[in-house]
Amino acid sequence: MLKRIPAHWLIMLGLVLGIVFGFGFSALNGKQLVVDWVKPFGTLFINLLKMIAVPLIIVSLIKGISDMKDISRLSKIGLRTLAIFILTTAVAVTIGLVVVNTLNPGKSFSQETRDQLMLGFADKANAKIEAAAAQKTQGPLQPLVDMVPDNFFNASSENRNMLQVIFFVLLLGVGLVLIPEEKAKPVKAFFDGLNEVIMKMVDLIMKTAPVGVFALMAALVVESPGLDLFKGLLSYALCVLIGLAILVLGFYPLLVRVFAGKSYQFFMKGMAPAQLVAFSTSSSAATLPVTMERVVDHLGVDEEVASFVLPIGATVNMDGTALYQAVAAVFIAQAFGIALDFGDQVNIVITATLASIGTAAVPGAGMVMLVIVLGAIGVPEAGLALIFAIDRPLDMSRTIANVTSDATVSMIVAKSLGMLGTPKQEASNPG
Ligand code: ASP
Repeated sequence: MLKRIPAHWLIMLGLVLGIVFGFGFSALNGKQLVVDWVKPFGTLFINLLKMIAVPLIIVSLIKGISDMKDISRLSKIGLRTLAIFILTTAVAVTIGLVVVNTLNPGKSFSQETRDQLMLGFADKANAKIEAAAAQKTQGPLQPLVDMVPDNFFNASSENRNMLQVIFFVLLLGVGLVLIPEEKAKPVKAFFDGLNEVIMKMVDLIMKTAPVGVFALMAALVVESPGLDLFKGLLSYALCVLIGLAILVLGFYPLLVRVFAGKSYQFFMKGMAPAQLVAFSTSSSAATLPVTMERVVDHLGVDEEVASFVLPIGATVNMDGTALYQAVAAVFIAQAFGIALDFGDQVNIVITATLASIGTAAVPGAGMVMLVIVLGAIGVPEAGLALIFAIDRPLDMSRTIANVTSDATVSMIVAKSLGMLGTPKQEASNPG
């Protein structure tokens, strides 16, 4: 019977049951029981997704590029993709700024809560600031240098180095397109076959998603700090959530409607499982296998486009993160009584867009790069301590926007190239 229930409902069920279970066991003082006996299944699920992410990026990008007939096609798709990535991110930051400047959550922030949070989270904030400092001290061109690995195998053994892996694979793909066809053919056939195998592995892993999501949510609930701390931060969190909701429920479906000609329901239904996995794992990289499967099988994006746009998108296109960074920067400035002029706001658009590109697709990474945005507008970085308590739920939510944006861009690019077709598994079918 379970077979007939669509994936997103099963995952949703896991999510809701996980939350209920977590609260139930917290009330019964069963926290340790959940940590010992339930949490490992969540960790297993995340590990399975991460395990497949690097091989998936490598194989799907090689397939995506080698399917292109020539280099001019690659540069056309590449430029189009990057341009839309940057545009959507800049729009996201702007939406965040409008919301936060309208609701002004930091202005009503009490001195008492501020002191309490600054004291309680100073250590954790410092760890993030140090992580950011390591990246900052290295000069303006360091991000460029960091993109090129000195050893491919080292790069691919660390999930944080996705951009380096992508660089190598792009070059390999270009090489494959440039060599004579008869030489390229067996290599291409090999990667085509491997791609099928890996997608099948994703299918199998996804069968465990409802259980994995259940375990992740239950563990999150029993391990989260008391609700008291959240209260003072509610209006800040609300700004981030309103901004993200505008993106996910309004902006992306609108783009899909206008530029890809697909309905709201079709898009949302197709994306729901990936969004739920993004929410429960807080990682675009871990969600990539699911996004890929949904976009190709349920939204009708040609594999050639999806294999190219999504791995790069998961790594550099983070609209939700950029929006959050903008809201957080303004909130912290307001809480410290620092006035930001129009120039500062423009500065936020630019730095948050760039910082989100540099953010790793893993939980909590957006906060590290927020340090750079704060630095750019002269707001004390120690202010990170203010937003720490509530970062996890916001991280989960912004990851939804990050993956939804990748899917949106892949649909627009596919449509513009005449490569958006009927999904393999028609998502609009009832059930
Ligand atoms: N967790 C986010 C992602 O993986 C990044 C972040 O904003 O922390 O997309």
